[in-house]
Amino acid sequence: QIRTRFAPSPTGYLHVGGARTALFNWLYARKNNGKFILRIEDTDRARSTPEAIQAILNGLRWLGLDWDEGPEAGGDFGPYFQTQRLEIYNKYLAELLSQKTAYEKDGAVYFKSTDPDGNIEDFVIRRSDGMPVYNYAVVIDDALMRITHIIRGDDHLSNTPRQVMIYKALNLAVPKIVHVPMILGPDGQRLSKRHGATSVEEYAKQGVLPEAMVNYLARLGWAYKDQEFFTRADLLEKFSLNKVGRSAAIFDNKKLEWLNAEHIKKASLSRLKDFLPAEYLQHPKIDKILALSQSRMKTVGHIAKSCAYFIEKEITIPAELQAAAESARKYLPELAVRLKAAVWQTEAIEKTVRGFAAEQNLDAAQIIMPLRIILTGSNVSPGIFEVMELLGQELTVARLSA
Ligand code: GLU
Repeated sequence: QIRTRFAPSPTGYLHVGGARTALFNWLYARKNNGKFILRIEDTDRARSTPEAIQAILNGLRWLGLDWDEGPEAGGDFGPYFQTQRLEIYNKYLAELLSQKTAYEKDGAVYFKSTDPDGNIEDFVIRRSDGMPVYNYAVVIDDALMRITHIIRGDDHLSNTPRQVMIYKALNLAVPKIVHVPMILGPDGQRLSKRHGATSVEEYAKQGVLPEAMVNYLARLGWAYKDQEFFTRADLLEKFSLNKVGRSAAIFDNKKLEWLNAEHIKKASLSRLKDFLPAEYLQHPKIDKILALSQSRMKTVGHIAKSCAYFIEKEITIPAELQAAAESARKYLPELAVRLKAAVWQTEAIEKTVRGFAAEQNLDAAQIIMPLRIILTGSNVSPGIFEVMELLGQELTVARLSA
């Protein structure tokens, strides 16, 4: 059975690079009916925090990357926190020491390099404070947790030969190890805060749909023909490690924004409803309201916003649009009278408004733009006559009169 793992060090939020690594491991496990394990590498006690652990768990949950074994899930190969596994590390350390493949110096334990080329020197596997070093603990854990495939960032490339030496010294089977190219900013430098948001949580706050984030992360370093839009089901069907490229992936916010809008456009109405306040769901025309605005929504925040003016009794006109709204003031009382008498259906409403504008020797736009601002609180909206039909005669007339 295929077993993959994500092994974050809980020293901060879930970084997009970590999220991408987790996603590749998750996809590979799920695709192959394997298991996905979460292990917390918290041996750096000074920098590991409970908040960071929670942030990582929350980030993974938000992305929908569920783990079969690990914190909160338990499992047969635990504990899944490295600081709870010190006895296990000590046991194998004793074996290395007795074999003389490891030795003690100044309180630390060193592994005796077996590299015939002499490129790799002896290296520390347990610090003098008793904590195991990453390169050692990771081997013991991956071996005992029966990990079959390790997929991780290529920043670990130079660690891999050291880890392989330890596997061999302990006679443990070496898993398949895959290195994924780093994620860079548009300037070719390693992705950092300078380039914008780097935590998954920040993207969630900015209104990115998790489906879109998963799609975007999957495409960072992996490709399938020239397809850009992937649902989770698509990814599970098409993901493969041999289509992971060798060159670094560039993080492109514009593309993420575009994918986000695409995912919102294609979302089911019931999915969109997840982002609405409970009282909006009670509105009898909520499905029509959502459907009318769906293609214009760019972020999760727009979902509720584009329903608000249909549902809230009061809307506010932003200061910068006041003048444009005022420009039609003298026509509004009469327009309200005409609309009160109109048949409440898109084409009839349009005829009424355009007819009225022509009668007053105005361009239709001179009426339509103020109307849009007054009715929606914005100068962009779906077709205003459709908006009016859906808004209803009463509310439309009330807003004009107000
Ligand atoms: N804790 C290590 C990290 O976060 C894990 C690396 C690995 O996957 O082996 O970089």
